[in-house]
Amino acid sequence: MDGILLENVTFRYGEEKQTVLENIDLFIGKGEFVTILGANGSGKSTLSSLMNGIVLPTEGRVTVDGMDVTDESKILDIRKKVGHVFQDPDNQIVSSVVEEDVAFGPENLGIPQQEIQERVTDALSEVGMLDYRLKSTYDLSGGQKQRIAIAGILAMHPDYIVLDEPTAMLDPDGRKTVLEIVKDINRRGVTIILITHFMDEVIMSDRTVVLSKGHVVKTGTPREILTDTELLEKNNLEAPTAARLAALLRERGAMLGGSIMTKEEFVKEFDKL
Ligand code: ADP
Repeated sequence: MDGILLENVTFRYGEEKQTVLENIDLFIGKGEFVTILGANGSGKSTLSSLMNGIVLPTEGRVTVDGMDVTDESKILDIRKKVGHVFQDPDNQIVSSVVEEDVAFGPENLGIPQQEIQERVTDALSEVGMLDYRLKSTYDLSGGQKQRIAIAGILAMHPDYIVLDEPTAMLDPDGRKTVLEIVKDINRRGVTIILITHFMDEVIMSDRTVVLSKGHVVKTGTPREILTDTELLEKNNLEAPTAARLAALLRERGAMLGGSIMTKEEFVKEFDKL
Protein backbone atom coordinates (compact mmCIF):
# COMPACT_ATOMS: atom_id res chain seq x y z
CA MET A 1 0.00 0.00 0.00
CA ASP A 2 1.30 3.48 -0.85
CA GLY A 3 2.40 5.61 2.05
CA ILE A 4 5.31 6.49 4.30
CA LEU A 5 6.17 3.53 6.48
CA LEU A 6 8.53 3.53 9.46
CA GLU A 7 9.28 0.07 10.80
CA ASN A 8 10.95 -0.27 14.18
CA VAL A 9 13.02 2.85 13.59
CA THR A 10 15.68 3.92 16.04
CA PHE A 11 17.81 7.01 15.46
CA ARG A 12 20.99 8.44 16.98
CA TYR A 13 22.90 11.44 15.61
CA GLY A 14 26.21 9.62 16.16
CA GLU A 15 27.55 6.36 17.57
CA GLU A 16 28.12 7.78 21.03
CA LYS A 17 25.10 10.03 21.06
CA GLN A 18 21.83 9.65 22.93
CA THR A 19 18.95 7.81 21.29
CA VAL A 20 16.66 10.46 19.80
CA LEU A 21 13.97 8.10 18.47
CA GLU A 22 13.40 4.53 19.59
CA ASN A 23 11.41 1.68 18.01
CA ILE A 24 9.07 3.90 16.03
CA ASP A 25 6.37 2.14 14.02
CA LEU A 26 4.27 4.51 11.99
CA PHE A 27 2.35 4.44 8.72
CA ILE A 28 1.07 7.52 6.96
CA GLY A 29 -1.32 6.69 4.13
CA LYS A 30 -1.85 8.64 0.91
CA GLY A 31 -4.24 11.54 1.32
CA GLU A 32 -4.07 11.71 5.12
CA PHE A 33 -3.54 14.89 7.12
CA VAL A 34 -1.46 13.83 10.11
CA THR A 35 -0.16 16.08 12.87
CA ILE A 36 2.87 15.16 14.94
CA LEU A 37 2.62 16.69 18.38
CA GLY A 38 5.37 16.76 20.96
CA ALA A 39 7.24 18.99 23.41
CA ASN A 40 10.59 20.55 22.49
CA GLY A 41 13.27 17.94 22.06
CA SER A 42 10.82 15.03 21.75
CA GLY A 43 12.22 14.14 18.31
CA LYS A 44 9.64 15.69 15.96
CA SER A 45 12.13 17.34 13.58
CA THR A 46 14.24 14.24 13.42
CA LEU A 47 11.17 12.13 12.68
CA SER A 48 10.17 14.49 9.88
CA SER A 49 13.69 14.40 8.41
CA LEU A 50 13.58 10.60 8.32
CA MET A 51 10.53 10.71 6.06
CA ASN A 52 12.45 11.76 2.95
CA GLY A 53 15.94 10.57 3.71
CA ILE A 54 17.38 13.87 5.00
CA VAL A 55 18.58 11.65 7.83
CA LEU A 56 18.74 7.85 7.65
CA PRO A 57 17.58 5.42 10.34
CA THR A 58 20.26 4.00 12.63
CA GLU A 59 18.14 0.87 12.95
CA GLY A 60 14.92 -0.21 11.26
CA ARG A 61 13.51 0.78 7.89
CA VAL A 62 11.82 3.80 6.31
CA THR A 63 10.06 3.41 2.96
CA VAL A 64 8.12 5.85 0.79
CA ASP A 65 5.65 4.07 -1.52
CA GLY A 66 7.81 1.00 -1.07
CA MET A 67 11.12 2.78 -1.84
CA ASP A 68 13.74 2.44 0.88
CA VAL A 69 15.30 5.80 1.90
CA THR A 70 18.71 4.12 2.15
CA ASP A 71 18.56 3.10 -1.54
CA GLU A 72 20.70 5.74 -3.28
CA SER A 73 19.18 4.97 -6.66
CA LYS A 74 15.75 5.96 -5.29
CA ILE A 75 16.63 9.03 -3.26
CA LEU A 76 15.84 11.55 -6.03
CA ASP A 77 12.43 9.95 -6.58
CA ILE A 78 11.81 10.05 -2.84
CA ARG A 79 12.81 13.74 -2.56
CA LYS A 80 10.47 14.48 -5.48
CA LYS A 81 7.59 12.68 -3.79
CA VAL A 82 8.12 14.08 -0.29
CA GLY A 83 8.54 17.85 -0.05
CA HIS A 84 9.83 19.47 3.14
CA VAL A 85 8.93 22.89 4.49
CA PHE A 86 11.01 24.13 7.42
CA GLN A 87 10.31 26.45 10.31
CA ASP A 88 12.43 29.44 9.37
CA PRO A 89 11.12 31.19 6.24
CA ASP A 90 14.44 32.99 5.66
CA ASN A 91 16.46 29.79 5.44
CA GLN A 92 14.40 28.44 2.57
CA ILE A 93 14.60 31.30 0.10
CA VAL A 94 17.32 30.62 -2.45
CA SER A 95 16.70 33.35 -5.01
CA SER A 96 16.14 37.10 -4.98
CA VAL A 97 13.14 36.99 -7.34
CA VAL A 98 9.95 35.16 -6.35
CA GLU A 99 9.42 33.24 -9.61
CA GLU A 100 13.05 32.13 -9.74
CA ASP A 101 12.80 30.88 -6.20
CA VAL A 102 9.71 28.80 -6.97
CA ALA A 103 11.35 27.47 -10.18
CA PHE A 104 14.45 26.27 -8.33
CA GLY A 105 13.05 22.86 -7.32
CA PRO A 106 11.60 21.86 -10.71
CA GLU A 107 14.77 23.11 -12.45
CA ASN A 108 16.79 20.70 -10.32
CA LEU A 109 14.47 17.92 -11.41
CA GLY A 110 15.31 18.67 -15.06
CA ILE A 111 11.76 19.70 -16.01
CA PRO A 112 11.55 21.49 -19.43
CA GLN A 113 11.44 25.34 -19.22
CA GLN A 114 7.95 25.67 -20.71
CA GLU A 115 6.51 23.29 -18.13
CA ILE A 116 8.41 24.98 -15.30
CA GLN A 117 6.74 28.28 -16.18
CA GLU A 118 3.30 26.62 -16.02
CA ARG A 119 4.12 24.94 -12.73
CA VAL A 120 5.35 28.22 -11.22
CA THR A 121 2.14 29.98 -12.27
CA ASP A 122 -0.05 27.22 -10.81
CA ALA A 123 1.93 26.98 -7.57
CA LEU A 124 1.94 30.76 -7.01
CA SER A 125 -1.83 30.86 -7.63
CA GLU A 126 -2.37 28.10 -5.10
CA VAL A 127 -0.64 30.06 -2.37
CA GLY A 128 -2.24 33.37 -3.44
CA MET A 129 1.07 34.97 -4.47
CA LEU A 130 0.75 35.23 -8.26
CA ASP A 131 0.84 39.04 -8.11
CA TYR A 132 4.26 38.81 -6.48
CA ARG A 133 5.79 36.74 -9.27
CA LEU A 134 8.39 39.35 -10.28
CA LYS A 135 8.87 40.86 -6.85
CA SER A 136 11.99 40.64 -4.73
CA THR A 137 11.96 37.91 -2.10
CA TYR A 138 13.73 40.27 0.33
CA ASP A 139 10.65 42.49 0.63
CA LEU A 140 8.28 39.74 1.68
CA SER A 141 6.86 39.19 5.17
CA GLY A 142 7.58 35.94 7.04
CA GLY A 143 4.19 34.53 6.11
CA GLN A 144 4.67 35.44 2.43
CA LYS A 145 8.11 33.83 2.42
CA GLN A 146 6.60 30.68 3.88
CA ARG A 147 3.96 30.72 1.13
CA ILE A 148 6.73 31.01 -1.47
CA ALA A 149 8.55 28.08 0.15
CA ILE A 150 5.33 26.05 -0.08
CA ALA A 151 4.90 27.11 -3.74
CA GLY A 152 8.44 25.91 -4.45
CA ILE A 153 7.52 22.51 -3.06
CA LEU A 154 4.18 22.41 -4.90
CA ALA A 155 5.95 23.14 -8.19
CA MET A 156 7.72 19.79 -7.76
CA HIS A 157 4.30 18.05 -7.71
CA PRO A 158 4.85 16.10 -4.50
CA ASP A 159 2.52 13.42 -3.14
CA TYR A 160 3.51 14.20 0.45
CA ILE A 161 4.48 17.44 2.16
CA VAL A 162 6.17 17.43 5.55
CA LEU A 163 5.90 20.80 7.29
CA ASP A 164 8.13 21.23 10.34
CA GLU A 165 6.48 23.88 12.55
CA PRO A 166 5.89 26.12 9.51
CA THR A 167 3.94 28.72 11.46
CA ALA A 168 6.12 28.96 14.56
CA MET A 169 7.78 32.20 13.43
CA LEU A 170 4.73 33.86 11.87
CA ASP A 171 2.32 36.49 13.15
CA PRO A 172 -1.34 35.44 13.62
CA ASP A 173 -2.40 36.59 10.13
CA GLY A 174 0.49 34.87 8.40
CA ARG A 175 -0.17 31.77 10.43
CA LYS A 176 -3.86 31.66 9.53
CA THR A 177 -3.18 32.04 5.81
CA VAL A 178 -0.50 29.35 5.77
CA LEU A 179 -2.82 26.93 7.58
CA GLU A 180 -5.66 27.59 5.14
CA ILE A 181 -3.28 26.88 2.26
CA VAL A 182 -2.11 23.65 3.90
CA LYS A 183 -5.71 22.51 4.36
CA ASP A 184 -6.50 23.32 0.69
CA ILE A 185 -3.48 21.38 -0.51
CA ASN A 186 -4.66 18.36 1.48
CA ARG A 187 -8.19 18.70 0.03
CA ARG A 188 -6.62 18.33 -3.41
CA GLY A 189 -5.26 14.96 -2.34
CA VAL A 190 -1.71 15.75 -1.21
CA THR A 191 -0.75 14.00 2.02
CA ILE A 192 0.18 16.41 4.81
CA ILE A 193 2.42 15.68 7.76
CA LEU A 194 2.39 18.75 10.01
CA ILE A 195 4.75 19.01 12.95
CA THR A 196 3.31 21.32 15.54
CA HIS A 197 2.76 22.21 19.15
CA PHE A 198 -0.30 24.37 18.45
CA MET A 199 -3.55 22.73 19.53
CA ASP A 200 -5.64 24.52 16.88
CA GLU A 201 -3.40 23.02 14.19
CA VAL A 202 -3.97 19.57 15.66
CA ILE A 203 -7.74 20.08 15.39
CA MET A 204 -7.43 20.59 11.61
CA SER A 205 -5.91 17.15 11.03
CA ASP A 206 -7.40 13.65 10.56
CA ARG A 207 -5.01 11.95 12.94
CA THR A 208 -2.45 12.94 15.55
CA VAL A 209 0.69 11.20 16.68
CA VAL A 210 1.98 12.20 20.11
CA LEU A 211 5.72 11.97 20.49
CA SER A 212 7.50 12.07 23.84
CA LYS A 213 11.20 11.50 24.49
CA GLY A 214 11.61 9.69 21.20
CA HIS A 215 8.61 7.39 21.58
CA VAL A 216 5.12 7.42 20.07
CA VAL A 217 2.97 7.53 23.19
CA LYS A 218 -0.43 7.70 21.51
CA THR A 219 -2.05 8.09 18.10
CA GLY A 220 -5.68 8.97 17.62
CA THR A 221 -8.15 11.47 16.27
CA PRO A 222 -7.51 15.07 17.38
CA ARG A 223 -10.49 14.71 19.73
CA GLU A 224 -9.09 11.57 21.33
CA ILE A 225 -5.78 13.31 21.89
CA LEU A 226 -6.88 16.79 22.90
CA THR A 227 -9.44 15.62 25.45
CA ASP A 228 -6.86 13.37 27.11
CA THR A 229 -5.62 16.14 29.40
CA GLU A 230 -3.73 13.71 31.61
CA LEU A 231 -1.69 12.33 28.71
CA LEU A 232 -0.91 15.81 27.40
CA GLU A 233 0.21 17.17 30.75
CA LYS A 234 2.28 14.08 31.49
CA ASN A 235 4.12 14.67 28.24
CA ASN A 236 4.77 18.36 28.78
CA LEU A 237 2.05 19.56 26.43
CA GLU A 238 -0.65 22.02 27.28
CA ALA A 239 -4.18 20.74 26.70
CA PRO A 240 -6.70 23.17 25.14
CA THR A 241 -8.10 25.59 27.74
CA ALA A 242 -11.65 24.28 27.29
CA ALA A 243 -10.55 20.67 27.85
CA ARG A 244 -8.54 21.65 30.95
CA LEU A 245 -11.40 23.65 32.44
CA ALA A 246 -13.83 20.80 31.80
CA ALA A 247 -11.47 18.33 33.51
CA LEU A 248 -11.07 20.64 36.53
CA LEU A 249 -14.81 21.15 36.89
CA ARG A 250 -15.48 17.41 36.55
CA GLU A 251 -12.96 16.80 39.35
CA ARG A 252 -15.07 19.12 41.48
CA GLY A 253 -18.17 17.09 40.70
CA ALA A 254 -19.67 19.08 37.82
CA MET A 255 -21.68 16.78 35.54
CA LEU A 256 -20.25 18.17 32.30
CA GLY A 257 -21.15 15.84 29.45
CA GLY A 258 -19.47 15.12 26.14
CA SER A 259 -15.82 15.22 25.25
CA ILE A 260 -14.99 18.89 25.36
CA MET A 261 -12.23 20.21 23.11
CA THR A 262 -13.26 23.72 22.06
CA LYS A 263 -14.65 26.80 23.80
CA GLU A 264 -17.92 26.43 21.85
CA GLU A 265 -18.34 22.85 23.06
CA PHE A 266 -17.58 23.95 26.62
CA VAL A 267 -20.26 26.66 26.55
CA LYS A 268 -22.81 24.24 25.04
CA GLU A 269 -22.24 21.63 27.77
CA PHE A 270 -22.07 24.29 30.50
CA ASP A 271 -25.47 25.64 29.45
CA LYS A 272 -26.98 22.20 30.03
CA LEU A 273 -25.95 22.15 33.71
P1 ADP B 1 11.94 18.47 18.37
O1 ADP B 1 11.73 18.76 16.92
O2 ADP B 1 10.79 17.70 18.96
O3 ADP B 1 12.27 19.69 19.19
P2 ADP B 1 14.48 17.29 17.58
O4 ADP B 1 14.24 16.17 16.64
O5 ADP B 1 14.91 18.61 16.99
O6 ADP B 1 13.20 17.47 18.51
O7 ADP B 1 15.58 16.87 18.64
C1 ADP B 1 15.51 15.67 19.39
C2 ADP B 1 16.82 15.50 20.15
O8 ADP B 1 17.89 15.34 19.25
C3 ADP B 1 17.18 16.70 21.04
O9 ADP B 1 17.71 16.20 22.23
C4 ADP B 1 18.25 17.42 20.25
O10 ADP B 1 19.15 18.06 21.10
C5 ADP B 1 18.92 16.29 19.48
N1 ADP B 1 19.45 16.75 18.17
C6 ADP B 1 18.74 17.38 17.21
N2 ADP B 1 19.51 17.66 16.13
C7 ADP B 1 20.75 17.19 16.43
C8 ADP B 1 22.00 17.16 15.73
N3 ADP B 1 22.13 17.68 14.50
N4 ADP B 1 23.07 16.60 16.37
C9 ADP B 1 22.96 16.06 17.60
N5 ADP B 1 21.81 16.05 18.31
C10 ADP B 1 20.72 16.60 17.75
